[in-house]
Amino acid sequence: MRLLTSLLPPAALLVASTLLQAADLPKESRVPGGIAVVPLPGLTSSKAPQADFRGNRVMVVSAQGTEYENQTRWLAIVGIPLKAKSDQQLVISAGGEKYPLTIQNKEYKAQYLTIKNKKHVNPDPEQVKRWRREKTEMVAAFKHWESIEQPPVKFELPAKGPFSSPFGLKRFYNKQPRNPHSGLDIAAPQGAPITAPAAGTVLTVGDYFFNGKTVIMDHGQGLTTMYCHMSRIDVKPGDKLQTGDPLGAIGKTGRVTGPHLHWSVSLNNVRVDPILFLDN
Ligand SMILES: [Zn+2]
Repeated sequence: MRLLTSLLPPAALLVASTLLQAADLPKESRVPGGIAVVPLPGLTSSKAPQADFRGNRVMVVSAQGTEYENQTRWLAIVGIPLKAKSDQQLVISAGGEKYPLTIQNKEYKAQYLTIKNKKHVNPDPEQVKRWRREKTEMVAAFKHWESIEQPPVKFELPAKGPFSSPFGLKRFYNKQPRNPHSGLDIAAPQGAPITAPAAGTVLTVGDYFFNGKTVIMDHGQGLTTMYCHMSRIDVKPGDKLQTGDPLGAIGKTGRVTGPHLHWSVSLNNVRVDPILFLDN
């Protein structure tokens, strides 16, 4: 890119650098369930410094070609937990320094769902045990670290269809409060294709109690994406995928009210709003 732009006239260079900037970072939104783009001034090593937040390693990318390039060499891209409080200060540690972070408040809407399979609302002890085991497997995937210099942070939609349920909704199943919605639901007919939103490697494939048939993809530096309730899985762990490659098909396996894709995006083991990785 740099070599190429040096051959272009100044006007084209300006356009190219704007495009480059837009392509380099996810949308920042310093709210619970959002993403913070945190400059790390003072850290000037040529190798990316290690950054951590609440015991999880955090993505660090070069600031070069972004709007931050004059103030810092490195940027931490931090997932903010949905449970974070707006009055609380979050602290990122990197290269022996502390970087405090103030977040804004965001009120998510509430949703009331009726689930016919009562076991999906109040699972029996055996099912709780199964779910705990599955959760451990999923969290291990969310914590997976792959040292990729510049992970892809601009995604294509993994399925075609209307967004039927946004990220962050406070959820009530048969009037009982449960965890907020940790992904984005895309409504699509049973059997419709699900595709990779960006390049990555298949990390985990499972058939889970709540999530049904599930694929977790790794995109590097703690950025993972998860696809749930699938009717069919067409990939296996270790498969290397490019944007648009098939993952499987839409279904209604697990705790659902109808066929759809539940799509989660995770950064530093924190589920964040997938919308922040989309261009439009
Ligand atoms: Zn969902």
